[in-house]
Amino acid sequence: MRTGIDTRREEIRTRFAPSPTGLLHVGSVRTALFNYLFARVHGGKLVLRIEDTDVERSSAAFEKAALEDLEWLGLRWDEGPDNGGSGPYRQSERLDIYRGYAAGLVQRGLAYRCWCAKERLEELKRSQISKGLPPRYDNRCRYIEGPDAPEGVAPVIRFKVPERIVRFTDAVHGPLTFDSRVIGDFIIIGSDAIASYNFAVVVDDALMSITHIIRGDDHISNTPRQMLLFEALGFAPPYYAHIPLVLSTDRTPLGKRDESASIRSLRGEGFLPEAVLNTVARLGWTPAPGLLCLDEMARSFSLKRLSRSPSVFDIESLRHFNRLSIEGADPVRLIELSGIGVEGVDEERLKEIVGLLRHNAATLNDLKRLMEPFIGKGMAVTEEARAILREPYARAVIRAARAVVEGLSAIDEAAYARVIKGVKEATGEKGRRLFMPIRCALTGQTEGIELVNVFKILGRERAMERLKGFE
Ligand code: GLU
Repeated sequence: MRTGIDTRREEIRTRFAPSPTGLLHVGSVRTALFNYLFARVHGGKLVLRIEDTDVERSSAAFEKAALEDLEWLGLRWDEGPDNGGSGPYRQSERLDIYRGYAAGLVQRGLAYRCWCAKERLEELKRSQISKGLPPRYDNRCRYIEGPDAPEGVAPVIRFKVPERIVRFTDAVHGPLTFDSRVIGDFIIIGSDAIASYNFAVVVDDALMSITHIIRGDDHISNTPRQMLLFEALGFAPPYYAHIPLVLSTDRTPLGKRDESASIRSLRGEGFLPEAVLNTVARLGWTPAPGLLCLDEMARSFSLKRLSRSPSVFDIESLRHFNRLSIEGADPVRLIELSGIGVEGVDEERLKEIVGLLRHNAATLNDLKRLMEPFIGKGMAVTEEARAILREPYARAVIRAARAVVEGLSAIDEAAYARVIKGVKEATGEKGRRLFMPIRCALTGQTEGIELVNVFKILGRERAMERLKGFE
């Protein structure tokens, strides 16, 4: 049995194995990222396997969404349902393979058919719980030679759990031991002839030559079962790294139900892939500070440096990385990603606008909102802005501003200072009463970027036109 990590002797193969029963969220993406980085750092391969044996809860739509989200994040796999290797990589297309291995175990006396009725199993469980015992199958069918198979009832296949202490060294948690006597003989093939999770995973990890399994802590109790199966099937088990769960800010585990933490919803809110990756990378790992690209992350990734305690996903950290990403991004890419309707707007002008606005945007949606006053035909005026623009003092401010702007040849910082000074002198207004009417007239909104930048984006002609509209 392997006891330590020797990454020098063999090709490293990791896998990401989502069940398509929901959208990928920051927790599952963290698992994908760590497997991706570990494969990258050792020049190995990442396998994408779709664990869709739960027919009722799995859907092709969730699988498609998962693949798209991974692509969007740039977490490209080397083998998977759509490329490379020697699949299939969907468990639903591998059911015969599992049946074959299960039949082999039955033949070798390491597994057996069980006809115990559901009612009997439920009764057994009830009585064990009432005695304060952990519920487990009592292995009844293990000892019955050629049981009287009830007519028309399909059996399950159970694995004969050998009695012993299972030991393994987890890369995050260190040496772990489990007593297999607490595990009853568990089902490897259900009465519907579909492999159980533990069995399918082991057969696949073995046949796909997976060397390292990095997955959530919630699977740690499955590991002894899986190690016993590896042994029974005659395969060497892989190395394991169980990473502590990701919690939401209320400290409950983040799950598929937390839709706001799904990659889909974060994309919709205007977060960039690099911001999501940088946030997720810090859930249980501490890479160098700042916005890192995948190459930079891969250079310093090590299982030894993963934390043993749970981490908390905080949207504020994501917003922080998103600001950094937006500030560093190419304006053309930002325009494309935010889907801003730019028909008929000069590209150079757009780039200039985005360049000035992006420092005020935490998300692409912010950017889109900030862009609105400057692109497209008519300017939308909010109710709040309308109310201010109706005030007589506001009209006086706007008239004065228009008069100063009229005398300018172009707008730069100095010209802007002259406008403000001129309006102050002409109207006696200052502070909010001075700036707000001008902002409302120029943007139709009461909030937005610095007024000087509003002037710069609009230029003299457009600024004049808008001011005139509200005199
Ligand atoms: N399909 C499992 C899940 O989505 C992962 C199985 C594993 O990593 O062993 O939780």
